[in-house]
Amino acid sequence: MTGRASRDVGAALGAVVGGAQVLAGEAAGAFAIEGRAPRWVAFPGSADEVSRCLALAAAEGLAVAPTGQGTRRHWGGTPRALDLVVSLRRLDRILAHEPADLTMSVEAGVTLGAVNAHIGPYRQLLPLDPARAAGSTVGGIVATAATGPYRARYGTIRDLLLGVTVAQADGTLVTGGGRVVKNATGYDMPKLQVGALGTLGVVVSAHLRLHPAPAEERSWLYGFPGPEALLDAALGILDAPLVVSRLTFVDRATLGLTGHAATPPAALAVTIGSVPDGARAQGERVATICRSGGATALPLAEPEAWWRRVSDAAWGSPPEPTLVLRIGVRTTDVVKALRAVEAAVDGMSRRASAELANGVLHVVLAGRGLEEAGALLGRVRASLAPLEGTCVVEHGPAAVKAALDVWGDVGPALAAMRGLKAELDPQNMLNPGRFVGGI
Ligand SMILES: Cc1cc2nc3c(=O)[nH]c(=O)nc-3n(C[C@H](O)[C@H](O)[C@H](O)COP(=O)(O)OP(=O)(O)OC[C@H]3O[C@@H](n4cnc5c(N)ncnc54)[C@H](O)[C@@H]3O)c2cc1C
Repeated sequence: MTGRASRDVGAALGAVVGGAQVLAGEAAGAFAIEGRAPRWVAFPGSADEVSRCLALAAAEGLAVAPTGQGTRRHWGGTPRALDLVVSLRRLDRILAHEPADLTMSVEAGVTLGAVNAHIGPYRQLLPLDPARAAGSTVGGIVATAATGPYRARYGTIRDLLLGVTVAQADGTLVTGGGRVVKNATGYDMPKLQVGALGTLGVVVSAHLRLHPAPAEERSWLYGFPGPEALLDAALGILDAPLVVSRLTFVDRATLGLTGHAATPPAALAVTIGSVPDGARAQGERVATICRSGGATALPLAEPEAWWRRVSDAAWGSPPEPTLVLRIGVRTTDVVKALRAVEAAVDGMSRRASAELANGVLHVVLAGRGLEEAGALLGRVRASLAPLEGTCVVEHGPAAVKAALDVWGDVGPALAAMRGLKAELDPQNMLNPGRFVGGI
């Protein structure tokens, strides 16, 4: 940090957000990211205050990390520097809900739980179900592009985000997408922010597309003799004229963690939402496909609570040290990727689940191999190379992650990403070091 003495920065932040809305010193330590504590935490109460915090940070040369409820604060690489955390916690207002248009505008600190509580009585959905969904803020979901099983039908936040207002690194507020386009940069601002981990701006509000809740939603669980037979059935379901809302593979260990009594080697969980007759008929078709693949139906009481446990199972198991890998491959290669990873991490305790409509495989690893996580990750990535698969580390102990490239090589795209970062954040003050290629 350059410029004014620390106490002046604290006072200047206080002048923007109010003295009671600034933490400094030890109190700021609770907002540490991967062991690195900020010097200040500011809690702005409006978009304008976020903008003024960033303008101040830019003038003082501060490294800034935006945060919501902090659910995924540790995602990405270890911060190269951290002076100021800007918490969006107080930006928790629902700005508009147009039930007839199936749209809604919210401040970035609104949680998915609050969104769904508001729109539930209208029988509408913001269909995002990543791990720890209810407490995750909309801003955090945009920044991390976090998804869950519903991705099979509804896509990601990228598909649901109609517009955003973003405070850029110098504090300028920019609105893009939706009905209002005031975007001086010329970029597709909403898409740019998705998954950028707060490295390109601080999302202060979002305009969202909602979906009508289906008249009936039903879930089924089938136990298979192994993942290969399961994948064949899943591909059969994807080929059939069925509209699945979720299509998820869980291995024996994950199934055990969700509290299910039966533990076949592999299980396929399917959700279909439709009119009641449609859901029943499609469910019968799913049953036929699964049974012809050697599956048996397993009971699934309280499906919504069970699905939440499936999403949360991909979170690791603190306090036990775990390394959580998110692997992206073609749908048809999910089991090949699973087998390749199993060979590369031989001997470690592990569990796996996968979104079969999207080729997203989560593997949670624990045990002694974590001590050599760099070599382990190298073996996993090498084993995925023939499948053109990618592997991102989502969670891991801070000390382990610090020595890893959590993103992996993204190839020629990196030069374009660096160019964009240089244009939108020339001082490199937003979440430095945390994104792909050390951006
Ligand atoms: C400096 C910078 C420049 C950017 N430039 C562009 C751009 O020119 N065009 C554009 O569309 N978007 C750009 N983005 C946005 C970024 O690439 C988004 O993360 C991406 O578009 C989201 O991908 P997805 O929808 O496939 O998400 P998902 O596949 O769901 O991504 C999930 C997660 O993977 C991460 N991720 C995204 N891409 C990769 C990758 N290649 N390797 C490893 N992990 C990855 C995301 O950050 C996210 O956390 C940029 C972001 C940054 C920080």
